[in-house]
Amino acid sequence: MAGKITLTMIKPDAVAAGHSGKIIDMIIGAGFKIQAMKLTRLSNEKAKEFYAVHSERPFFGDLVKFMTEGPIIAAVLEKENAVEDFRKLIGATNPANAAEGTIRKNFAADIERNAVHGSDSDENAALEASFHFAGVERF
Ligand code: ATP
Ligand code: MG
Repeated sequence: MAGKITLTMIKPDAVAAGHSGKIIDMIIGAGFKIQAMKLTRLSNEKAKEFYAVHSERPFFGDLVKFMTEGPIIAAVLEKENAVEDFRKLIGATNPANAAEGTIRKNFAADIERNAVHGSDSDENAALEASFHFAGVERF
């Protein structure tokens, strides 16, 4: 499935605010098929592992605290050109720079509490899908 999947997380801010339904509706409306989905919560260890690439960044501690503060919804999404199309749908990391009609424009508070995650490459999409889901959980 190279090139056809991406991994998203609806982050704790958006789940707590009750935005999950509207976000999932936008994802389906944009043509993504849901291969797998679950409500879960990252442990400190798992959040550090997921965002290990940012471990030297000054915001890493805050990011891990944020991502573990409550439940998230993790999902594997399928579509042609999934990674790039999903990054377009979610908008810029900082919602102040996100385009109109994007998920982050609609639901993100700031550069940290930005409502959703999207994989940044096909390689990471595959790794992140395996991070959250076993093969038998994907359809
Ligand atoms: P994500 O990986 O969650 O989809 P992204 O790829 O748009 O987001 P990254 O650069 O990978 O952005 O940063 C990962 C996450 O770290 C961001 O989504 C945000 O929650 C947080 N973050 C990034 N930059 C900052 C910053 N300057 N200050 C605070 N938090 C930040
Ligand atoms: Mg990223």
